[in-house]
This record gives sequence, C-alpha cells and structure tokens, in this order.
Amino acid sequence: MSKRARLIHKEDGTVVSSTSKYNGKYLLENLLVCGDCGASYRRRTERGKVVWRCAATRIEKGKESCVDSPTVNDEWVQKILGGVFCEDNVYNEDTITNNVQRILLFKEYLEIYCKMKKN
Ligand SMILES: [Zn+2]
Repeated sequence: MSKRARLIHKEDGTVVSSTSKYNGKYLLENLLVCGDCGASYRRRTERGKVVWRCAATRIEKGKESCVDSPTVNDEWVQKILGGVFCEDNVYNEDTITNNVQRILLFKEYLEIYCKMKKN
C-alpha cells in the first residue's frame, strides 16, 4: 500500500501536509456511518443547507430503504466534533482526522469512536 502525501493550501496562507489513503473530498464522508444499517453517509444539499444522510435511503429497488436513520445537519456535526475534540470548540479537520476513527449515527444519539494513540 502506498502512501500519498498531499499538500493542502489553506485560505489563510498556511500549507499543511497530509497523508491519506482517502481521496474523498469530505472528511466526514469517511467517518459517518449509519448506526441502523451500517451504510456510509452521503453529503447532500437541501434547501441551501448541507446535510448528511444514510446512503441506503437512496436505494429504492431490491432493498428496503433505511427509514430510521437520522438526517443530520453538517453544521451540527461540526459543532459537536469541535466541542469535543478541538481547541476553542472550533471544528478543525486535522484534529478530527487525528482523533476520530468513526462516528455511528443513531436516531437519538451518536457514537464517536476515537483513534488509539500510538507512538
Ligand atoms: Zn442506514
């Protein structure tokens, strides 16, 4: 498995080096998992707002759609993650990448799995 290094140029002028096996555009797409059916979450824009929704809700043939999974607001997820993991409660993608393994979404709560620190 080869690791690819990426340089990310941020808006404030800083350059961050990132090694990732994901090519995903959005970090949360790699983290959010439906607690009900195990499908990953997909990013959508609804009425001008960014939301995350279980991918299985879009499957209409062959499988029952996942009706109990919550649709969550992107801002809301970032606010929670920022409050738990980040300095000054401000969502920081690098911090989340370093600390969060997976986020399971249930109807009334979410489960955050943290990465084990290893040296
Ligand atoms: Zn689901």
